[in-house]
Amino acid sequence: MAAIFYPIIYFLIVISPLAVILLTGPYTDHGMPYELGKAFAFTGFIIIALQFVLSSRRKWIERHYGLDMIFSYHKALAVLAGVLILGHPVLLSLGLGNFQLLTSLSLPWYIWLGKAALVLILIQIIVSGFRINLHLGFEKWRFSHNIIGGLLLVGAFTHAIATSHSDLDITAVQVLFTAIPVTGLFFYIHHKVILPARLKKNAYTISAVQQQTHNVWTLEMRPPQGQKRYSYRPGQFHFIKLHRNKGLPEEEHHFTISSTPTRSETVISTIKESGDFTSTIGSTQKGDQVSIEAPFGRFSHLYHPEDKNFVFIAGGIGITPLMSMLRYMRDKETDYNVLLVYANHTQKDIVFRQELDEMTKKGHPKLEIIHVLDDPDETWEGETGFVDDQIVSKYVDNFDDKAFYLCCPPPMRKAVLKILKEKSVPNDRIRVEIFSL
Ligand SMILES: Cc1cc2nc3c(=O)[nH]c(=O)nc-3n(C[C@H](O)[C@H](O)[C@H](O)COP(=O)(O)OP(=O)(O)OC[C@H]3O[C@@H](n4cnc5c(N)ncnc54)[C@H](O)[C@@H]3O)c2cc1C
Repeated sequence: MAAIFYPIIYFLIVISPLAVILLTGPYTDHGMPYELGKAFAFTGFIIIALQFVLSSRRKWIERHYGLDMIFSYHKALAVLAGVLILGHPVLLSLGLGNFQLLTSLSLPWYIWLGKAALVLILIQIIVSGFRINLHLGFEKWRFSHNIIGGLLLVGAFTHAIATSHSDLDITAVQVLFTAIPVTGLFFYIHHKVILPARLKKNAYTISAVQQQTHNVWTLEMRPPQGQKRYSYRPGQFHFIKLHRNKGLPEEEHHFTISSTPTRSETVISTIKESGDFTSTIGSTQKGDQVSIEAPFGRFSHLYHPEDKNFVFIAGGIGITPLMSMLRYMRDKETDYNVLLVYANHTQKDIVFRQELDEMTKKGHPKLEIIHVLDDPDETWEGETGFVDDQIVSKYVDNFDDKAFYLCCPPPMRKAVLKILKEKSVPNDRIRVEIFSL
């Protein structure tokens, strides 16, 4: 129900200034292109203001969709706002019957400010869309994205007010036009300043650091004395920010909570050294502090009680959310049937191998594990190569009664999704976790 409620509310907020203008605004003899140009600007501006709400990871929104879907909307809406804002001066010029707005250099300051806001939104869209091609690191991108976003909102707002358009004389429009961006700014400040300060004050403590494989580490985190750990579902993830010795990066990253909520008062993440930040994960010390924002995500079998027979497909560190679910099923002594197809390069890359083997012996869940190595040594007797149609068809006897949970790198995900499509597995039985937002 809520899944449809929020888009409707969103739509109503976006069109609210326009609706008020249409219902109560003064008659104008400007032609259609001019009026449309104004409508584009109002709508584009409100979308931009609401981007600050969407990106502030509100749990009451996130729990219905998952953060990945919200960020997909955030990106699509940014493009829509860009198109609308780009169309604004073009349509106004068409309505005015001349293109001075676009070509003249002698324009009032507030028109230049509007143009600057337009350039900023284009920069946001292009840089975010092509960040990797531009070799821009995530942290640098995030910093510039936040600054440009704030400047864009203030610039566009000032431009609109300074043009002192007659529509802004309508009190209800004034209220909406101010309240919506102020709300956006409030969410922004809360997300960037107030929440991080609160999380740091209530920081968890690293209670154990364990090397799992040659490049994978497990961190155990304990809540502050006298506080209960947050509650979560197996397979969900959290954002953590480690406060460590000087010189070690203090960045916020998302990691699966690889532990199970059935256990203890701590939470655990298992992290692979894969880049600038994660390559320092092994330097984390017992006693270090960690800010945690949690939980997020909908990649959990608990969201799908109808699932009873599972095929888990993991690639490398993508095992973590599946491990959390398996640990939960083990502790709850469920009789689910689970086939785990677990791909790695070599034997020494297999994370949780011993624990997984022990699980198969226990029988809860009824777990079968197929390890697949693409770079095996001569001692390996299991499956080799990449996870392909042959391997999937060999071990999955029936595609009609199973739910498929995938967490693997993009090429493997693409290949497996293609196989599932060929086997006519409907989308509502395929659940995917993607390790990037
Ligand atoms: C839902 C989810 C769960 C995850 N669970 C795990 C897990 O259990 N174990 C694990 O090892 N990895 C997990 N990851 C991946 C992990 O977040 C990245 O490997 C890590 O952020 C890379 O950081 P880096 O600086 O070391 O690597 P880099 O090489 O610097 O970055 C690699 C990519 O990671 C992303 N990234 C980098 N920094 C950030 C950041 N601060 N916030 C968001 N994205 C960023 C960007 O797309 C970047 O291009 C998960 C990711 C997601 C989305």
